Amino acid sequence: MNELIEKAKEFHTLTKGELVSLLADDGINEELFQAADSVRREFVGDEVHLRALIEFSNYCRCNCLYCGIRAENNLVERYRLEKSEILELAQHAAASRYKTIVLQSGEDFSFKADYLAEIVAGIKKLDVAVTLSIGERSYEEYKILKKSGADRFLLRIETTDKGLYEKMHPKASLENRKRCLYDLKELGFETGTGCLVGLPGQTLESLADDILFFKELDADMIGIGPLIPHPHTPLRDSECGNLTLALKVMALTRLLLPDINIPATTAMETLNSEGRIMALQAGANVVMPNVTAEDVRGKYEIYPNKAAVNYAELSKKLAQIERTISHKKGFRNHFVSPLTLAPSPVGRGKRFYLARHLRRNMTPQEIKFWNLVRNSKFMNIKFKRQYKIGKYIVDFVAIQKMLIIELDGGGHNTPEQQKYDEERTKYLMSRGFKILRFWNNDIDNNIDGVFETISLALRERN
Ligand code: SF4
Repeated sequence: MNELIEKAKEFHTLTKGELVSLLADDGINEELFQAADSVRREFVGDEVHLRALIEFSNYCRCNCLYCGIRAENNLVERYRLEKSEILELAQHAAASRYKTIVLQSGEDFSFKADYLAEIVAGIKKLDVAVTLSIGERSYEEYKILKKSGADRFLLRIETTDKGLYEKMHPKASLENRKRCLYDLKELGFETGTGCLVGLPGQTLESLADDILFFKELDADMIGIGPLIPHPHTPLRDSECGNLTLALKVMALTRLLLPDINIPATTAMETLNSEGRIMALQAGANVVMPNVTAEDVRGKYEIYPNKAAVNYAELSKKLAQIERTISHKKGFRNHFVSPLTLAPSPVGRGKRFYLARHLRRNMTPQEIKFWNLVRNSKFMNIKFKRQYKIGKYIVDFVAIQKMLIIELDGGGHNTPEQQKYDEERTKYLMSRGFKILRFWNNDIDNNIDGVFETISLALRERN
């Protein structure tokens, strides 16, 4: 097996350079798709989760260059569904055994958070998970929606290349997009993001950055769509994105984030009538059938000729590839660490809750350190805190650089603790991490020295 694919399959980590080389090499495609398929089977099983999509408004304040329902496209017939219509569609979907309802719209601020919260609360009575896909809102609005019972939120970043992002999204900023995603994570939403493949001027390097961003965010769902230019947009003369490249980005995402949910996107099926099945055999485990009423469905046209899902046909095709339709809500299995080599199921739950407990009970030194590195403040590197790696929880980690920072109090002086630390260090180093340890005293009295050491280590790991 290709060495890099083997590494990704085993350790769920790749550097940017390694991602680029795999994206550039079409000789490894089959091997990559097979590896992603096998990781998908191992971590999320053979069930395919169906998410019922309700597109409730095609009004949008934004002008994304590739989107058919952008504000400046006057050829679109706009619509908004009433609350009662949305609830009726949701009831119908729930009666058809869908266990997730996805409410999607353009950035339509006439749907205030409180009103949407009422709709979510109504749908939650149907014993289904609710996913929202309504674009950028404030932290407070997201909080209201979370409180109303919404479980998930989809907000594709589309590209992490700042220049390209701002070119494609007039008057929008990449920083705010990221702010939204981190707010959603913090509020406890299962957070979905993803990218478009084939934007004009996009490079393999920027796609590699996208994948690394998904990992940094620890996204729970990732949707990858090839660009399909809409004839009534500024990108009308652009070429379609390459389906194979989109599948490769998706497969690499599966290898790096093995336990997440990944849809076989409609755009893939639109480009190739077998695109959905190809995606399901290259790492995907979710399909999102559109259950919006027929009379308005055609008006939600981000790109043209969107492929529909024929339930009977899908079931038949799934049976042919030995997959089944799930009738569960299909939340991410958080108990599997993305960096775990061969996790024992025993204790996974404990470690998850322990990590959460530790995050909520940080020492003063940890809080001081966290405040200096959070939101990529230090050298533009994303640090995570109290993060599970295998059976261990580390204080802070910059995954992109495979660098762990541990802050030790006096408890680490005991022989037992030293023995435990040695074993832990051995394990983490065997997985390619470098570990820097500092005493709490260093954080209190020599913070400049601490950051100088970290800065050197980060540069060494370029
Ligand atoms: S992609 Fe989304 S945010 Fe952008 S114009 Fe279309 S609906 Fe609006």
